[in-house]
Amino acid sequence: MTQEEMWRAVSENDESYDGIFFYAVNSTGIYCRPSCKSKTPKRENVRFFNTADEARNAGFRPCKRCRSDLLDYHPMKEIAEKAKQLLDECFKERSVLRQGFTQLGVSQRRMAEIFKDEYGMTLHEYMKSRRLEEAMRLLTETDEDIVDIAYSVGFGGLSSFYSFFKSETGMPPSAYRKEHRK
Ligand SMILES: [Zn+2]
Repeated sequence: MTQEEMWRAVSENDESYDGIFFYAVNSTGIYCRPSCKSKTPKRENVRFFNTADEARNAGFRPCKRCRSDLLDYHPMKEIAEKAKQLLDECFKERSVLRQGFTQLGVSQRRMAEIFKDEYGMTLHEYMKSRRLEEAMRLLTETDEDIVDIAYSVGFGGLSSFYSFFKSETGMPPSAYRKEHRK
């Protein structure tokens, strides 16, 4: 991340950068998260830190307004890994997934960028591949009804599952099952 990008995040109070870096203000001795609503400091007084620890070690105190001391440090890689793990475990349940992402503490937009940087695909693409894998497994290894499989991999009904499956594999689920059933 460039200093320009960090400065832009600070001047726009962009909360999607919270936890990614901190800024400290020489004139006040305080460090903040990017989204802090305090008056935007002068650029020449600002220093950037990757972690709250680094800011503290440099002698800055946490801000009482944005509570920069309460934010854990989440390196981007760690965030991406947690997101992936969450998708692996909860790709069938959108509400659980959404909640899990909220708990990771970065905005969805920022999360999407971090994930793409780390894995070269979007969250959505990754989720699709997980659902497809699971659907293929259930079709070939079980006798579950196709409609039940549709629900269990996270689709709201048969027709959305059907068109998803066909566009990904080139054949409808029933044909896939016939061809690959073990
Ligand atoms: Zn602050």
